[in-house]
Amino acid sequence: MKVWRSPIVILVSYCLFGVSASAQHTAQHVDTIVTGMVVTMDGHRSIYDEGAIAISADSIVAVGPRTEVEAKYEAGQTIDARGKLVLPGFVNGHTHVPMTLLRGLHDDVTLNDWLYKYIFPAEAKNVNEEFVRWGTRLALAEQIRSGVTTFADMYYFEDAVAEETKKAGMRGVLGETFIDFPAPDNKTNAAMLAYTEQFLQKWQGDPLIHAAPAPHSIYTCSQKTLQDAAALARKYHAPILIHVAEMKKEWDDSLKNNGMSPVQYLDKIGVLGPDVVAAHCIFIDEADRKALAQRQVGCVHNPSSNMMLASGVAPVPESRAAGMAVGLGTDGPAGSNNDLDLMEEMDLAAKLAKISKMSPLALNAKAVVEMATIDGARALHMEKEIGSLEKGKKADLIVISLDEPNAVPMYDVYAQIAYALKASDVETVVIGGRAVMKDHKLLTVDEAAAIARAREYRKTVGASLGME
Ligand SMILES: [Zn+2]
Repeated sequence: MKVWRSPIVILVSYCLFGVSASAQHTAQHVDTIVTGMVVTMDGHRSIYDEGAIAISADSIVAVGPRTEVEAKYEAGQTIDARGKLVLPGFVNGHTHVPMTLLRGLHDDVTLNDWLYKYIFPAEAKNVNEEFVRWGTRLALAEQIRSGVTTFADMYYFEDAVAEETKKAGMRGVLGETFIDFPAPDNKTNAAMLAYTEQFLQKWQGDPLIHAAPAPHSIYTCSQKTLQDAAALARKYHAPILIHVAEMKKEWDDSLKNNGMSPVQYLDKIGVLGPDVVAAHCIFIDEADRKALAQRQVGCVHNPSSNMMLASGVAPVPESRAAGMAVGLGTDGPAGSNNDLDLMEEMDLAAKLAKISKMSPLALNAKAVVEMATIDGARALHMEKEIGSLEKGKKADLIVISLDEPNAVPMYDVYAQIAYALKASDVETVVIGGRAVMKDHKLLTVDEAAAIARAREYRKTVGASLGME
């Protein structure tokens, strides 16, 4: 049957067709679209059950419901994570990655004994640039596997750490250690300053590597060393990484020697500021918390390390309430953890706060997921760049499988991430728009070589210390 159409109907259908054709035609080209259940950690803590993220070069161009993103953008490649979680990459705010090669060397002793009797001598005999490179490679593999996309490190030969991190496509805030005794890399303070200045100059403006001076602590650095490190950082607008108030002895000695707490002492000598990343912050009172919040110091809580070394319990709920940026770190991995699994730290942070306050309300699942992502980014002063999945931020994201016995059923996504999911559930990791792990396969680190070398180092390090 012949259907007669009025000119108006024909005109309307032509217009509709014209509109949809031109919308398709103007779909903006991007490099990658990731689809899945997107947990953004943005200011509203938006979650898109059926979401998508459009990525161009190293940044996010759009995040939202999948239908909206796919209508506006067309991509060269798609990462199909439907039915899986898509999260911002985790931020490991404090570690010493080359120490992977000393993992398990001498555990179950006091921090003081561990440092002075075992670790400092082991480092003096074994740590050189080659050691640092292999330890870093092993740590990069381990961290990527647990969904870490940015880490903050403090060690020696940090330029070698930076080169390896850059090669693996990972993001790092990498601190060269300042310490008042001959270190494995620099034997004098003058050499240490010269090395670090060159290190800072070399990495200025790099999109992945943020080089930094890392004065070890107030108990291993003189006032002059601390101030020299801070002045150098400020000359290059670099962050300052330091251990702060990590043990009772540090607090007691500071009261005795400086007449004030470690935090007040660092404030008095001009070190505290919005560029400082302070690991631990266990022994801090109300006045200290106020000073740390006012000076916008980032703090990093390391629950495994604090428990393993019986250092004490950081007052995380009080610090958060005071307005401090508190991130999470693994510390270690030797002697004080002994792994680099940040998902485990989320779980432990919540449970340590609960048991120490004898209240299950002390620190909840959502809070620890914040600490591993957006608050971790704030603690490193990088919240404009990373920590959430938002337009304009770096495309650092991870895909976590929900097809595991420990992943179902799911009633609350934050509880699932904090208490049920495991590092081994992380499938895919993207850093700055580049996939560094796809379906559990590492793409930028030779994991087999790193594992084989670690076994070789077990023999040489053991022999140097007269072990079997
Ligand atoms: Zn540490």
